[in-house]
Amino acid sequence: MVYYFTCVLSFLAGVNLTLDDQLLDFTRARWNRMLMRGFWSLLVLMVMLECLYLIFITPLAPEEFFRHYMLIPTALHLSVLVLSELCLRFLEERMRDYALLAASSVITFIIVDINVEIGYIIPALFLPVLVSIFYFSARKLIAASLMSLVTLYSLYFFNTSMDISVVGIVALTAMLGAFCLIARGVISRGKEMRQYYIHAAKSNQELLVKNILMDKLAKTDALTELYNHITFHEYLDKLIEHHDTTHMPLQLALIDIDNFKTVNDQFGHRAGDAVLRQVADLVRSQAGMNDFVARYGGEELAVIFTDKSADKSLQILETIRQNIELAVYKELGSRQITVSIGFADYDREGKEKFFIRTDQALYNAKSQGKNRIVLAGEASATGEQSRFAWQ
Ligand code: GH3
Ligand code: MG
Ligand code: MG
Repeated sequence: MVYYFTCVLSFLAGVNLTLDDQLLDFTRARWNRMLMRGFWSLLVLMVMLECLYLIFITPLAPEEFFRHYMLIPTALHLSVLVLSELCLRFLEERMRDYALLAASSVITFIIVDINVEIGYIIPALFLPVLVSIFYFSARKLIAASLMSLVTLYSLYFFNTSMDISVVGIVALTAMLGAFCLIARGVISRGKEMRQYYIHAAKSNQELLVKNILMDKLAKTDALTELYNHITFHEYLDKLIEHHDTTHMPLQLALIDIDNFKTVNDQFGHRAGDAVLRQVADLVRSQAGMNDFVARYGGEELAVIFTDKSADKSLQILETIRQNIELAVYKELGSRQITVSIGFADYDREGKEKFFIRTDQALYNAKSQGKNRIVLAGEASATGEQSRFAWQ
């Protein structure tokens, strides 16, 4: 009675303790289930051993042995297991571990209580201490140690069949202390390793983020934050390859700022940079999720459209052209900025001809008076040399 009372007390004490190891939560449910399986196996093992004892060894009358050594302990063991299963199902997460520790304590108590004449079974009372190591928590180790201490002294004071001297009980207490110290060491070592792995995982994460940032830096242009020249070519290669198998829409526009040299000459390079950034933002703001905007060269941008009809893409480009024309560039006072745009719809002609056709359209836009969009002609009709160096 005293034992069960103290067991409930240490269980309730455990309830109030807060977990210091929240990070171990993710595997805890699995380990608790494994512990429960262990408790069930122990029940089966005990029944089997008692049966063997009943058949081959006991000098007692079978009915008496059955009632005292089998029926009552098995019923108690079973009820503890059922209660533990209920706790696992219905108790708040952090209390389940303490419930299982209490269960392990009660089960070892039942087993040792009926077999106390076998002196060397007494250290089995310390099993909850080992169970507490599963949780890598000093608080659970303390709770388990207290439970073991209470079970040991309950047996010593209340089980008359326990034949043990004062020296014996002191030795057992010292043994329990040694168990706790070793368990504490194992937990500390485990925590150390855990810290190490958390640190390693964090470093890996940081490295990954750094790599992503480096990758972004390598792919984008620092001034406009648009994709750079190399990435533009890589992307266009891939899209053309993709187009050959899927026939997805694919159009290219080359946008060149008109008379940009005079902007630099009149307002300075810094003002020129600011205008470039503003123009890049205006283009990007109109491009869709699947469109790809790059800074192809100095004051030349490229847009690849991948999911719209040529008419829709042209509409977007016209909006871009108008927005750039109407925008106010505070570095330039009242001076306007315009762009010329060359546009081509992919005609399965290969990347080089596709680009040259678009570039030729841009050249035509410039020669027709700038600030306009010109559509490229048929692939076969273009034979002129591109203004752009072909890589
Ligand atoms: P067009 O209308 O024929 O395109 O005339 P343009 O003056 O724009 O063309 P041109 O090729 O003669 O000059 C391009 C200028 O763009 C020259 C160069 O100083 C300027 N430029 C290129 N890259 C940058 C840049 O990153 N920042 C600034 N501020 N200017 C740049
Ligand atoms: Mg220009
Ligand atoms: Mg140019």
